[in-house]
Amino acid sequence: MGLMKKPTIVCLCGSTRFYHEFQAANFRETMAGKIVLSVGFFAGSPGEMKQEHGEGVGISPAEKALLDELHKRKIDLADEILVLNVGRYIGDSTRSEIAYAIEHGKPVRYLEFPLASEQLTGTDRSMPGKPSLNNPASGKHYNLTTDRSDPRLHAVTPSGQNEAYIILSEEERAKGFVRPVRQSYMHVGLKPKYPLRDLTDVEKRRYDESDFVKYEVYPESESPKVGRFWTEKELRGGCGSVTKMSLPLSETYARDPKFYGSTFCIGCRTHLPVAEFVWDGTDEPVGS
Ligand SMILES: [Zn+2]
Repeated sequence: MGLMKKPTIVCLCGSTRFYHEFQAANFRETMAGKIVLSVGFFAGSPGEMKQEHGEGVGISPAEKALLDELHKRKIDLADEILVLNVGRYIGDSTRSEIAYAIEHGKPVRYLEFPLASEQLTGTDRSMPGKPSLNNPASGKHYNLTTDRSDPRLHAVTPSGQNEAYIILSEEERAKGFVRPVRQSYMHVGLKPKYPLRDLTDVEKRRYDESDFVKYEVYPESESPKVGRFWTEKELRGGCGSVTKMSLPLSETYARDPKFYGSTFCIGCRTHLPVAEFVWDGTDEPVGS
């Protein structure tokens, strides 16, 4: 028997109401050759699920605190975390686990494309490990760095921008551009590609804390993704603001169009996925 390379350890994080999704992710990640750390008590899942697991009893605040603590110890053991943001729902415990993982330098993957407010690192499932990029508003002081471990990359200032943004080194940028150097982009938002339907009563109950109003049903060809929820605001589209960047950032895009996963919108004052923007004066999405 050959020697197996040490498998990646992934810790699943998410609301315990998502019993089925935890089991499905455990299966998928295991079949991908990873060691999976999961939760063992689905306190938040529907009644029938708890009974299935002899967990029909409630949970005290002290027990909840203990379980949250235990889960952080699992994150300590893990090489990465996978956030099961089913329907893009992320509760308080999960949010604190994401922050904990980031603090300890663990990559964060998401099951579904996260809401902008959840993009704590600017990384997400579609663009793993991609940093966020801000717009340095004219005259505004900001820092650029080529060091991916710079803690300022994850520090958010009151303006919503980060303290620093990563760029490719001058040497790397000097190797040549594969796109024109473009210095401004417009927030046009995303549009559903497939038909929308209303939320079911079950979904309305499950996501009652969210702003979801419609569900986009993906065809078989998008498998394993089955669809996504949309909020009213998302359906209205982008805010139309044009955001300008400084030259080193523009050159980084021109050298490596997919370098950034999300970028700052001066109108929305937050980081959003690059796919929500087009280069000003064109139909070309940022990131392409
Ligand atoms: Zn905007």
